[in-house]
Amino acid sequence: MDFIADSYHYEKESFKIVAPKNLIPTIEAAVRSTVPNARFDGGKELKITTDWAAGLVVKAVLGDFKPQVLVDKEILAVKYDEEDRKRRQRERVRLAVLRVLEEAFDLAPAPWGILMGVRPVKMVHTLIDRGFTEEDIRRMLSSVYGVEPKKRDLLLEVARRQRGFFKLTPNQPIGVYIGIPFCPTRCSYCSFAAYPLKTHGHLFEGFLCALYSEITGVGRLLGDLGVKVESVYLGGGTPTTVQGRRLEKLLSLIQRYFISAETKELTVEAGRPETLNPETLQILRDYQVDRICINPQSMHDETLKKIGR
Ligand code: SF4
Repeated sequence: MDFIADSYHYEKESFKIVAPKNLIPTIEAAVRSTVPNARFDGGKELKITTDWAAGLVVKAVLGDFKPQVLVDKEILAVKYDEEDRKRRQRERVRLAVLRVLEEAFDLAPAPWGILMGVRPVKMVHTLIDRGFTEEDIRRMLSSVYGVEPKKRDLLLEVARRQRGFFKLTPNQPIGVYIGIPFCPTRCSYCSFAAYPLKTHGHLFEGFLCALYSEITGVGRLLGDLGVKVESVYLGGGTPTTVQGRRLEKLLSLIQRYFISAETKELTVEAGRPETLNPETLQILRDYQVDRICINPQSMHDETLKKIGR
């Protein structure tokens, strides 16, 4: 418990950001990725400057802590266009903010650097698609995204394996993902489209009606095209916020329109264990759900309380 209390000593920090206006949203998002409950109404001054006089130089200064200066001349190469330069500036700002916060709050370097969202491997595929060599990508993952060597090698390995499955032929089986964007509450670290039932419950019924008709429409289209579904993943949000007869209807439509002899897996994510009960489990079993994915995130009640779960 002491450890938990220590690691949250900065959670209520507030910052006064001094930076070019167009970078403020990037800086706020970068701060929140490390200090989730940060406020921006005064407090510690976080000053970010950028300079393109001889390459890109980004400087982040937070109070009296050691400033972070990132220099990037490579982005001036002709293979990059204006959009790349704008993106690189945002990425450098995010990394400089991360590094200065790590210094200020004595945090261990984030192993994934600024690739903190879901599917960091997506970035690797984008770079491969654009013709960058493995060596280029290796260097960029370290210097631009701040990914540590072990995670960098893992990303490259995962991307290599995934590429083999990317060349779809028209009638190859597909995977279907269905997202239910509602949760009991919103976790403080959440970056998904997920809305708490308490504030957005009035949209629940309308959303389900639209989803039922979309499943029907897509299912018919796949039938007409002769495309089979290999796997269905019901994710979110928290799909098990759908309960009772609504859940039965949803699963019966999935069974009717997507599941066939060729389907290998039907998964339902029960991210929030408190949404599971004997009735829901029975319904999942009745509709031949093969896999339930439960993500408690932590076994510490205190931590769960702090992250809003
Ligand atoms: S349960 Fe998952 S999707 Fe829902 S708010 Fe928490 S992190 Fe976001």
